[in-house]
Amino acid sequence: MQVMDEIAAVRSAVVAAQRRGQTCGFVPTMGALHAGHVSLMQAARPQHDLLVVSIFVNPTQFGPQEDLQKYPRPRDRDLEMCRDAGVDIVFYPAVEEMYRPGAQTFVTVEGLTDLWEGAIRPGHFRGVTTVVTKLFQIVPADAAYFGQKDYQQQAVIRQMVRDLDLPIVIHTCPTLRDPDGLAMSSRNAYLSPAERTAGLCLWRALCQGEADYRRGAAPRDIAARMQQLIANEPGVQLDYAAVVDPQTLQELDTDQPTAVALVAARVGSTRLIDNAIWGGKVGGA
Ligand code: AMP
Repeated sequence: MQVMDEIAAVRSAVVAAQRRGQTCGFVPTMGALHAGHVSLMQAARPQHDLLVVSIFVNPTQFGPQEDLQKYPRPRDRDLEMCRDAGVDIVFYPAVEEMYRPGAQTFVTVEGLTDLWEGAIRPGHFRGVTTVVTKLFQIVPADAAYFGQKDYQQQAVIRQMVRDLDLPIVIHTCPTLRDPDGLAMSSRNAYLSPAERTAGLCLWRALCQGEADYRRGAAPRDIAARMQQLIANEPGVQLDYAAVVDPQTLQELDTDQPTAVALVAARVGSTRLIDNAIWGGKVGGA
């Protein structure tokens, strides 16, 4: 496995492999890797000759009051996990390599990014779409692998890829959970044992919502019940719980064959998000 911190080096390695007829799969991450990240590498590994992972805590997607400084950066452990997953190249740039002084260009997806996470974290998706566009230039992979865990993020990226005709296939892989249902996240490391227990209300709300959906409850009623379940949990502040259209992310008023439940809450100072797809499968290429 090669670890590269320079844009030019990783790009020429990928281009050279493709000239030899090899295909390249790409998994962008912010590091602090866990089994959820590894599952993306495992999905990509058998599909491609070359597997590239990027590890970059992207400052432009953090708000001024967010956890950029304290975001965990366990470099050695992350590299070990990549090695174990059979990664060929880890792109591990410094902030100055990714954002040169005087940079003035951003990539923005409109509409979808006004909703949910976008409403609560202004500028977040602009940072995500900008860095992902840059990463797709640096690692001109054939396919990139994202997690369903960040449902809105993969929807925004799919929209961007479509709108800008980017020559890359987007795969969305299922959310990996701890045995009790908590979605794996690098931010779970911030939770005290009591907060972790409280945070399980997101998963309970999604399970309750799915049961209600299966018995034909109206989407708005399902959402209201999920909101109540989360809001009633001591120590938890609800940000949103909604039942939405899988593509537009607009709230549903009537039953639809496939619906997506989006939930987000703060547990102490940690934000948790989760989601579930009901009645269908979203996510292949
Ligand atoms: P992050 O490092 O948080 O930016 O995440 C990098 C990628 O891993 C994103 O595509 C996430 O959606 C994905 N990911 C994060 N957590 C999980 C999980 N629990 N299961 C599957 N994929 C995940």
